[in-house]
Amino acid sequence: MKTTRFHLVTRKETPADAEIVSHQLMIRSGLIRKLGAGLYTWAPLGLKVLRKIEQIIREEMDNTGALEMLMPAVQPKELWQETGRIDDFGGQLLAIRDRAEREYFFGPTHEEVITDFVRNEINSYKQLPINFYQIQTKFRDEIRPRFGVMRAREFLMKDAYSFHLNKESLQETYEAMRVAYSRVIERIGLDFRCVLADSGAIGGSGSQEFHVIADSGEDAIMYSDTGTYAANLEKCTAVSLLSERGAASETLEQVETPDQRTIDAVARFLKQDKSQLVKTLLVEGEDKPVALVVRGDHQLNEVKAVNLAAVKAPLRLLNDEEIKQLTGANAGFIGVVGLDCHIIVDQTAANMNNFICGANKDDWHSTGVNWERDANYHEVADIRNAEVGDPSPDGDGVLKMARGIEVGHIFQLGSKYSQAMNAVVLNEQGKSQAMEMGCYGLGVSRMVAAAIEQNHDAKGIIWPDSIAPFQIVLLPMNYHKSSRVKEAADALYMQLKAQGHEVLLDDRKVRPGFMFSDFELIGIPHQIVIGDKTLDDDQFEYKQRKDMQLQRIDRARMVEFIAEQTA
Ligand code: ATP
Ligand code: MG
Repeated sequence: MKTTRFHLVTRKETPADAEIVSHQLMIRSGLIRKLGAGLYTWAPLGLKVLRKIEQIIREEMDNTGALEMLMPAVQPKELWQETGRIDDFGGQLLAIRDRAEREYFFGPTHEEVITDFVRNEINSYKQLPINFYQIQTKFRDEIRPRFGVMRAREFLMKDAYSFHLNKESLQETYEAMRVAYSRVIERIGLDFRCVLADSGAIGGSGSQEFHVIADSGEDAIMYSDTGTYAANLEKCTAVSLLSERGAASETLEQVETPDQRTIDAVARFLKQDKSQLVKTLLVEGEDKPVALVVRGDHQLNEVKAVNLAAVKAPLRLLNDEEIKQLTGANAGFIGVVGLDCHIIVDQTAANMNNFICGANKDDWHSTGVNWERDANYHEVADIRNAEVGDPSPDGDGVLKMARGIEVGHIFQLGSKYSQAMNAVVLNEQGKSQAMEMGCYGLGVSRMVAAAIEQNHDAKGIIWPDSIAPFQIVLLPMNYHKSSRVKEAADALYMQLKAQGHEVLLDDRKVRPGFMFSDFELIGIPHQIVIGDKTLDDDQFEYKQRKDMQLQRIDRARMVEFIAEQTA
């Protein structure tokens, strides 16, 4: 491809709304253009990258025996009524009406559509197991679309859905998907981790996420410094930091703490460590209010909390008025002594003794508080965030934290959808049975942004060879003035093309400096400079975008040299 026949429009300015580097570089290099909030056009240059990622995914999915198909993006609302998921997805669903006022959603995911397909197509265990996938556009009306294609509203996903007679078969395919996803990300060349995850609104039991490691990642990942344990912070088990409870050696007292409403303020005021305090958070419960109690230096994990039977979903903190009515005090002075509600205590807080908490009286705290003697709880549960330095829950090492970009998520759904939608097969005994189901998502468009987050420098993108829009760019100096340069560049271009390389020849009438900085920004991995000076010695100059070290290569050896570099 010659640049004058291609669409190449780069920009010097960083767009004002682009907070993270991948978004900035994708706009500046002209991979994508914004149409509206969370809506992006993929320019030809960007589409090349997207298609390469798709291709790697297709190969790895096909390798596992999964079958590609394509479902409609627009889904009848009735299907969503069958599974009762309209409320779960809430505002993320884009509703559409046709001319007959029939209602549809633009698909945010396809569990309903595939289950409808399968219940009509599959009726015998002999047709199982089977795994269908598609690569398709999704729409989610995200509350805060941001970071370009990283969290868009319209985006490209590979989604797969497997169906099984039993859990063992589901686990086999789930494991095959885990391996395939790892292979996809390895082939692209990204540093990633597979972590235990919460199942969220999709539902079901086992689930793991694939995170590309990057400082800008929206998710916190906890992992063992010496072992294999890794989990999303939401899911990461937090162990008790106190193996047993010490004696109740202090007496219960009330101390005046005027206007000291936060853990920090109270700890400072009473000259105590935050770990001597407990935090009591009041939330809406299924039948009565629930108090969630964690040690003062710990953070409540909302996902863990909302997964508890007594806590009402979605999690809602009681408002000031409700708190006052329940406790007689204002938020900031709430404690467990004499508190009349369902009390759930974190494992560490449950083993504390002689602790400090609010006195349920404005401007007062209780000190020397001890469980059983002064207050009781109804449940002990893991409701806090694990922290850096905590023992790893599998006993191997201590926890560290990294930021990650979630590019994939695999789930064992069980029979949640097949039961709701009556997707049954006849088993070996001739009896009707709901199918077991798994689902597996990969963020194709998000992966482009994630790759850039991990591979860039101050000058631009540094594409891994696997997904670069072009592998090689030829940068001729004075292409339009020196016939010798033109002939050499054209000849090399034809030779490299004949070898099957994806080559771009920059035949624009632009200054060398402009040309160089454009391709530093765009990030083509292999760059060959062709100029009169080096041609005098029958040589070209070669540089890799990774390090930009210039290297002289004999003309006669150039094609072979490139074959070695790109092998
Ligand atoms: P997130 O927590 O980032 O919102 P999710 O849990 O909602 O992701 P899934 O429903 O599991 O995501 O979708 C599968 C994959 O689709 C995700 O792993 C992610 O890579 C991608 N994805 C999800 N939402 C978006 C989005 N708004 N923009 C781009 N990619 C997305
Ligand atoms: Mg989401």
